[in-house]
Amino acid sequence: MVDHIDMPCPKCRQLLRVRKQHIGHRLACTRCKHTFVVKAESFPPPPAPAPPPRPVSETDTLKQRLSALETELRQVRGALAASASCESETARQLQEAQQELAQVATLREQLRAALSESEKLRTQARTLQEKADRVDRLEDELRARGEEIARLTQERETREKEEKEHRAREAEKGTEERAAAQKESEERRQALEAEVARCRRELSILRRTLQSLGIVFESGA
Ligand SMILES: [Zn+2]
Repeated sequence: MVDHIDMPCPKCRQLLRVRKQHIGHRLACTRCKHTFVVKAESFPPPPAPAPPPRPVSETDTLKQRLSALETELRQVRGALAASASCESETARQLQEAQQELAQVATLREQLRAALSESEKLRTQARTLQEKADRVDRLEDELRARGEEIARLTQERETREKEEKEHRAREAEKGTEERAAAQKESEERRQALEAEVARCRRELSILRRTLQSLGIVFESGA
């Protein structure tokens, strides 16, 4: 229960703080100095006591527990449903992951096969390249030999031509020399014949001279 109230002055309506112990006493307004007797009715009645708590019956307890259990059951069911859904999602994801793994394994196998094939092709390409290199070398060698043969052929032809020209020159020179020799030989023969003729004449003169002197020269000539 309150022990004071703020009540208005009956005259000027100024709010005045009045204690409960002043009930029946005369008070003066602090503002207008009006005096009045404080009445008990001015104070509000004490609040009604709270009703005694209703006794809780066993049925109510059971009902409350049931309700609580139902709530709990709903929560558990919800959680279970969520868990089942989650589990189903997980299983689905797991399956997808397994399928992806299988695909990855297949791709890896294909990649390995492709790499093996690629390696084989690379080896073949290397072999072909080596053969091509060998062919190139042989072609170079062949070309070099062809050039050498052409060079030797040309040299031989040049030499043969030179030799032929030399022979022709030699032959010409030989003919000239022979002609000169024949001419010289003829001149010498003529000279010798002239000498022989001169000697015969001298011999004839000498023989006649000897015969005139009475000497017989036995020589037959
Ligand atoms: Zn007053």
